[in-house]
Amino acid sequence: AKDVVVPAEDEFYEGRVLTRLHYTRERNPRIRAKLLQARSSAGLNCEICAISYPSVLANIHDAAFEAHHVVPLAEAGVRVTRLADMALLCACCHRLIHRIIATERRWVTVDEARRIIFAENSAV
Ligand SMILES: [Zn+2]
Ligand SMILES: [Zn+2]
Repeated sequence: AKDVVVPAEDEFYEGRVLTRLHYTRERNPRIRAKLLQARSSAGLNCEICAISYPSVLANIHDAAFEAHHVVPLAEAGVRVTRLADMALLCACCHRLIHRIIATERRWVTVDEARRIIFAENSAV
């Protein structure tokens, strides 16, 4: 009989589902719109890298930013999402934090993601 090898992909399965659910919730346009509205008076900027894209045209400026849940849905369960549960991230950092979460196979906070993303710069 052949040895049964558990595919490495199986270890990613839960994390990928979590990420997909997370993204699905984030696509709720009302949450993102409210977050953008709340942050716009102080000026939109990424909570990881602080980029604000000041030179981007005003009518498309918001497209640089995305809403990210700071608490994983698996821990929070069914709940009402409040703006305090959301972080405003640039599209690049948002992609990076989810790649880190998938790679680490655990939840990663915004502060931790910032340290990981800029680790090479700070090590110089
Ligand atoms: Zn950023
Ligand atoms: Zn997210």
